[in-house]
Amino acid sequence: MPELPEMEITARRVSEALTGEIIESVVVPGINALKTFDPPPSALEGATIEGVRRRGKLLMLDAGGLVLLTHLMSAGRLQLFPKRATMKDRTMRVGLRLSEDRELRLREFGTKQRAWVKLLRPEDVDGDEALARLGPEAWPDPPELGPLLKAPRPLHTLLRDQQVIAGIGRTWVDEILHAAKLSPFKRGDDLSDEEAEALREAMIGELGRVLDVYEEKVAMPLPEKFPKPTRVHNHQGEPCPRCEAVLEAVFYEDYVMTYCPSCQTEGRVLKDRRLSRLLK
Ligand SMILES: [Zn+2]
Repeated sequence: MPELPEMEITARRVSEALTGEIIESVVVPGINALKTFDPPPSALEGATIEGVRRRGKLLMLDAGGLVLLTHLMSAGRLQLFPKRATMKDRTMRVGLRLSEDRELRLREFGTKQRAWVKLLRPEDVDGDEALARLGPEAWPDPPELGPLLKAPRPLHTLLRDQQVIAGIGRTWVDEILHAAKLSPFKRGDDLSDEEAEALREAMIGELGRVLDVYEEKVAMPLPEKFPKPTRVHNHQGEPCPRCEAVLEAVFYEDYVMTYCPSCQTEGRVLKDRRLSRLLK
């Protein structure tokens, strides 16, 4: 799933490319993707795009005094095409038609249709449930983490909980915990003040590092797959970039959690849940 850095670079690139453009019309072939009916999509016709912002993993396109709120979920992408869809683009959920036949499309790959958009009036933005329940931003300036993470839950779960802190998912959480030298299974309420501060520094540093890579490598048209400048996540079996111990992993049903036993878990190799389930 695209996380904060992928969404931030998407917001920046689309904003740079389209601010000041006029929306000629809106097409919604994926009618289930549109979660609001008032105002209708036609309310955007003739509207000028004022910019694109990010909140957590959500994108907000401002146009004509309205806000198009978008969640790409795991398989959605926002892409600008030089031509309107002549053949039916089966991945297209929503299309904004612009001048010179260009088209900004929300596309979704894979079988599940989970990406969504909402067209909101400005006064409804703050109260929108998807936005209202988001925790503070993980980047660029997250609040003190001690009070925020004070719960008897493992850091690996807490940091990915968008209601606790917004923007982090399965990929970058591994990089952040490794940079902070913290065990993914350490409980949030067991963090010392120093550990909480190290975690905050690691969060700012790692998300910023990825974004710097994207600033350099990601241009329009936005890629279907973003580069993954990971050093730890999914690198199990390889040497730790800091201490050269072999990186270990815990395999879950649809993702992997990678860590360094030497830097993060005092040498302990955490139980592999997939293996222990098979052995039952
Ligand atoms: Zn290490």
